[in-house]
Order: sequence, then C-alpha cells, then structure tokens
Amino acid sequence: MTIYLGTPAEARYWCREQRKGGQSVGFVPTMGALHDGHRSLVERAVAENGTTCASIFVNPLQFNSREDLDKYPRSLEEDLAILDRVGCKMAFTGSLESFFPEAGDADRIPPVVPLPAIAGLEAAFRPGHMEGVQAIVERLFRTVGPCRAYFGEKDFQQSLLVRQIAAGMNTIEVVVCPTVRESGGLAMSSRNRRLDAAERELALALVRALRAAAGAWHGGQRDPERLEELMRGMLAVPGITTDYTAVRDPENWTAETPPGPLQKGRALVAAWVGGVRLIDNLDLDTAGTHSSTVRPAFRGE
Ligand code: AMP
Repeated sequence: MTIYLGTPAEARYWCREQRKGGQSVGFVPTMGALHDGHRSLVERAVAENGTTCASIFVNPLQFNSREDLDKYPRSLEEDLAILDRVGCKMAFTGSLESFFPEAGDADRIPPVVPLPAIAGLEAAFRPGHMEGVQAIVERLFRTVGPCRAYFGEKDFQQSLLVRQIAAGMNTIEVVVCPTVRESGGLAMSSRNRRLDAAERELALALVRALRAAAGAWHGGQRDPERLEELMRGMLAVPGITTDYTAVRDPENWTAETPPGPLQKGRALVAAWVGGVRLIDNLDLDTAGTHSSTVRPAFRGE
C-alpha cells in the first residue's frame, strides 16, 4: 500500500529513514488528478530507484488566478490507487504554511531569486507562476532529499527551471521524461478533464500546429519568426485564444524570439480552449521519432 502522509515533516522523516536504510529515493512531484503522463514518471522512478515517493500538492503559489486554482481538478482517492498500482511507496501533501513554517503565514513567504529559465513565455503570461514553481520545488527537494527527481517534458520551461534548481543543490539528478499523449495526439494534462468533446477536438490544433512547425523545420525552415507565424496561423480558429506560439533554442533559453537561423529548435504553444489553458511543445529535430509517447489507457487494468 502507498502510505499517505499529511505533512512535509512526516515526509521528511520517512525519506530520511529510507536513505538511512541505504535506499535511493526517487521523487515525482505532482498536483494530483493523475493521468498516464504522471504514471509514466512514477513507473520510471520505481524502475530506477530503491524506493519512490510522490507529492500531491496543488500549489497556490503557482496559480495567478483564484478561479483557476479553485477549478483545478482534485481526485485524491483515485490518485492513491494509481500510485499504489505502480509501486509508489509513499505520497505526501501539506498546507502552504506547513511547507514554509518560518514564514508564519502564506502571505509572508519570501520571494525567490528568479533563475534564468523564468524569463519569458509562461512567466510573461502567468505573472508569478514560475516563481511559485521555483519556491515549492526548492522546498519539496529539501523535504525529500531525493536521489533522482522526475519531471515531464510537457512543461518544458518548468523542466529547464527545475534543472537549474537542482544544479544549485548539487546532489539531485533531474530526469526529464517524454510527453505522453492521447491517441489523437493531445498531450495528457489534468486540465483535459475540463474539456468537453467538442473542445477536445478543437484542442488537437495545438499538436497540429507543433507538427506543422516540425514539418517546416525538416523542410529546412530555421527562422523562428516564420515558424511562430505558421503555428499562430494554425491556431487562429474560433474557440481558441492563443497566448503564445514560440520557437526557442533549448540550450540557450531567451525571453524573446532568438534571431535565426537556429541549429536546434523547440516549438512551444500555450492557448485557451474554451476556459481551459493548455500548453504543449515539441523538439523540432526529433519530432516524429521519439519525442512523444502514446500509452494505452489504463482503465480496466
Ligand atoms: P502536474 O501535476 O501537472 O504539476 O504535473 C506533474 C508532473 O507530471 C510534471 O513534471 C509534469 O511535467 C508531468 N506531466 C504532466 N503531463 C504530462 C504528460 N502528458 N506526459 C509526461 N509528463 C507529464
């Protein structure tokens, strides 16, 4: 059975005991409402570590809208059953105050010193979001003291940020796992639960736009502005409101569109479908080869 602990203090103690017993600890931070994307991270952690734990914490610091926070799906019982099935030994949560006890209350949590990956895109469209991620990930890492921590490529900018956080802590290996997609290509996300059938169909425009950019890239187009325009055009349909279409050099993150031609490219999109904000991205060099994974649904297993 997956043990469920309600405070970071208990989780810290549990993890310390595991390490004392000589176990390497794999860690998967999540906000719950688990799907096959999360499951792939946990499975990998279980395969690569002596013991694995996950956090389930809808972090208020990374929501820039109260409504979005309130509407975020929550399904603790189902989440624990999934974690149990894949061999996760412990899951924990906590209140914001329990993660930052020194602050006294949540409004007094000191601001982080922003790392370079915080620049642009998600940071520009969701003020405070990346700082909120940085604050909680640093705290989660200190709580668990993992050997390896597993994140999804689906949140590409976040994965860069997390690598930068871990680099400053020296002892944690960050493992970034491929995006798991539904059979139609839509990147799995807890937010997909809020899409109705018509919106799900519409949401496929995101992955189509990314694939079109990859097609143009393979055809020799290396100018990020042209690729961004191409994607923007494909998302210009009723029912979709685009926050950004972007191409970045993944090894040299910039807030703004870099000057072309690029040697390496990562295409990224963020768009609203109905009232749901979705993000996705693709490695332009490897798109169509190994940058995404489609997994069978696990219902009925
Ligand atoms: P979240 O619960 O949305 O904060 O996500 C927890 C972790 O799961 C993050 O590292 C995400 O990048 C990762 N993740 C979310 N969706 C997917 C997906 N479709 N495929 C792989 N990883 C994912």
